[in-house]
Amino acid sequence: MHMVTCIYCGDRFNRDKEAFIQISARRFAHAKCVPEHQKNISKQEQDYNDLINYIKKLYNVPAVLPTVIKQIKDFRQEYGYTYVGMRKSLHWFYELKNNPISKSNNTIGIIPYIYEDVKDYYYHLYLGELAAEEDVSIPPPKSVTIHSPTCVPELQRRELFNLEDDDE
Ligand SMILES: [Zn+2]
Repeated sequence: MHMVTCIYCGDRFNRDKEAFIQISARRFAHAKCVPEHQKNISKQEQDYNDLINYIKKLYNVPAVLPTVIKQIKDFRQEYGYTYVGMRKSLHWFYELKNNPISKSNNTIGIIPYIYEDVKDYYYHLYLGELAAEEDVSIPPPKSVTIHSPTCVPELQRRELFNLEDDDE
């Protein structure tokens, strides 16, 4: 019996009994965990590229400043901000709220000051969309199905919501 730890899901498993991939001399993963991991990686890369491209377009520059690259990294590591969330924050502040881009110095230092507001904004937008969907999908009386009520406290619901839902 060879017990190893999957580097992706963290579970211990017996590699004699389950399909595995050997990543390096001492690192293993469930074969089933690999596709999901690769999907996450490429989504992250895509989100990151979207953010970089958005900043270039917003500030009308051919490349983002090294300062900005560092800011993105810091915001992600220190505050746990997502690339999508950062992009939406800039979009909200400069395009929806029309704040002057000239004051940005082509950096993104504004993000920590607005991130929570932006989350609120998209959260309410999301609720509005849900409400609108409910309006159009009310079934005719004869086919009404009664669902048992699920009561989710406001706070818990807010935690479930994040800016990853990228459906602009
Ligand atoms: Zn695994």
